[in-house]
Amino acid sequence: MVAEVDKGALLVAFLATKGVEVDPEKYGNQKVSCIGHQDRSPSASVDAQKGVYHCFSCNLSGDVYTLIMHDRGVDFNGANEIAQAELRADAGDPSPVGAGRRGRFIPSWRMGASQGSGRFLPPNRR
Ligand SMILES: [Zn+2]
Repeated sequence: MVAEVDKGALLVAFLATKGVEVDPEKYGNQKVSCIGHQDRSPSASVDAQKGVYHCFSCNLSGDVYTLIMHDRGVDFNGANEIAQAELRADAGDPSPVGAGRRGRFIPSWRMGASQGSGRFLPPNRR
């Protein structure tokens, strides 16, 4: 069984690379600063569970692929490649399901989100 990487997790990971922090486990819409225009007060809305994004100011709207296409100026295939190459590691199994408590493993998007870049220390570094 191959588990598809969750689109919501990809969206959260992508927004983290843009310095936008989203709680990946929160249901419903979260207000965030829009990545599509200069946004001083949050005017965009993200649903991390559904993986959808919508800005009420500039109408940038869609899923993670739409945002990557907008941000990088690529087509869908390009966005898909970027998602696989750059986001999958962040979005893919951040913690084993049912492993118990949260907090031991900190996904990189959480560690670096406020600085806008994921900083990730491999657990087995020597
Ligand atoms: Zn916007």
